[in-house]
Amino acid sequence: MSKRPVVVVGAGVIGLTVANQLQSSGKYSVTVAAEQVPGSLPAGARESTRWASPWAGANWRAWSSNSDHVLQDMELQTYEKLGELADTSPEAGIQRTQGVDYFGKLADNALPWYAAKLDNAKEIPAEQFPNPTDTIYGLCYPTFIINVPVYLEYLKSRFIGLGGLVEQKSLSHIEESLLLFNPDTLSSMPIVVNCTALGSRVLGGVCDKQMCPVRGQTLVVSAPEAKRTITRVGSKFDYVIPRGDGTVVLGGTAEVGSWEDAADPNTTQRILRHALELEPKLLPQSMVGRPESERMQALRENIISVNVGFRPMRKGGPRLETESFVDTKSSQPFTVVHCYGHAGFGYQSSMGYASKVYQIISAL
Ligand SMILES: Cc1cc2nc3c(=O)[nH]c(=O)nc-3n(C[C@H](O)[C@H](O)[C@H](O)COP(=O)(O)OP(=O)(O)OC[C@H]3O[C@@H](n4cnc5c(N)ncnc54)[C@H](O)[C@@H]3O)c2cc1C
Repeated sequence: MSKRPVVVVGAGVIGLTVANQLQSSGKYSVTVAAEQVPGSLPAGARESTRWASPWAGANWRAWSSNSDHVLQDMELQTYEKLGELADTSPEAGIQRTQGVDYFGKLADNALPWYAAKLDNAKEIPAEQFPNPTDTIYGLCYPTFIINVPVYLEYLKSRFIGLGGLVEQKSLSHIEESLLLFNPDTLSSMPIVVNCTALGSRVLGGVCDKQMCPVRGQTLVVSAPEAKRTITRVGSKFDYVIPRGDGTVVLGGTAEVGSWEDAADPNTTQRILRHALELEPKLLPQSMVGRPESERMQALRENIISVNVGFRPMRKGGPRLETESFVDTKSSQPFTVVHCYGHAGFGYQSSMGYASKVYQIISAL
């Protein structure tokens, strides 16, 4: 049986996860087309901030609210699949670890939904909070860290290994995706998956003005003893995400609407100070009890890079729906499945969303 051709526009974690799921089914022959592709840079060059995926932490730490059952489902499905990958494919860069969350307030005084869903999730006693003045509740639970550069490369290599094609190409209009199909296959209704994230703001035919950047400044430091991933929300927003290779991502900021790609030195100082409060193991045991200024200086010396990335937020939530198009030049009809707008939860919901896209396409 001949495979149905599909073009996926976008090679971030969403596009590549969708492409892998479709290609591995054996029913589709998939081409990924994207302006930025993992590993397309010369050695040592800095990643572009025009895509989000290389700049994430990343960990699994649920961002869905207690009432958002759709996103909860996406995150839970991904949680299960990250577990399978961690256990079977060490080359993917995913590892099991302990997650620790501190909350400055609880919406409607209700515990976060995942406290009851994840096996072995446990409340942290108040005497163990790093700073009782900003925390009213703490939770620890088994979770995953994702070494983002390794995982993106894994997704790309696996896709190519399955026979998928990757083309580095920028589209100015969604109609240009038709040029990526073999003309002989255009008689059936072509299917395009739009995973362009913030690119959807300006991509012709889409121009989604609900898309908005959420700026995140982070530091990557060398800290081989830090193993847990820790997040603090409320009056502060801080996180510590080990990558499992001796480096750790420290954050953060969440500045809605900001396109500022220069790092702010005051934010860097604040990230260092708060991270040391959350995780003393960022420094060797010999630094315990040393004055804060010395500890800050020691951690500053371990900085590998200071980074800025832009989370692709969509007001109203991610867009997952089909749209019918007719090419203005050739009158060729085609179907676009939109899947973008995953803000700060793209990694931890990626496999759930890819399954949804697969179901939608299977029914077309
Ligand atoms: C600081 C920071 C920390 C984060 N931490 C986490 C975390 O811990 N856990 C988590 O789950 N998520 C985290 N995220 C969020 C996560 O990174 C994003 O949700 C995810 O990367 C979005 O993936 P994407 O594939 O939708 O978009 P992108 O990675 O932005 O990919 C978009 C793709 O579309 C392509 N494209 C765009 N326009 C065009 C065009 N016109 N033509 C061709 N190609 C185009 C781009 O080149 C790129 O290949 C974090 C993000 C940041 C910035």
